[in-house]
Amino acid sequence: MAYKISTECISCGACEAECPVQAISAGDGKYEIDAATCISCGACAGVCPVSAPAEE
Ligand code: SF4
Ligand code: SF4
Repeated sequence: MAYKISTECISCGACEAECPVQAISAGDGKYEIDAATCISCGACAGVCPVSAPAEE
């Protein structure tokens, strides 16, 4: 099950550099996770200041 970034995202960009498989990129108004690439490691959730990434 992949992680997904909620609308709480403030586009700080902190998670993008933490992802070991480069699944995160800037989207329209918030960052997005490519579900097919995400390995559900949880690193993005660990650095997010607003707890936007969560496991679906
Ligand atoms: Fe990347 Fe891990 Fe977050 Fe998935 S859970 S987007 S692999 S940092
Ligand atoms: Fe959005 Fe959180 Fe990632 Fe920052 S760390 S871009 S607030 S999901």
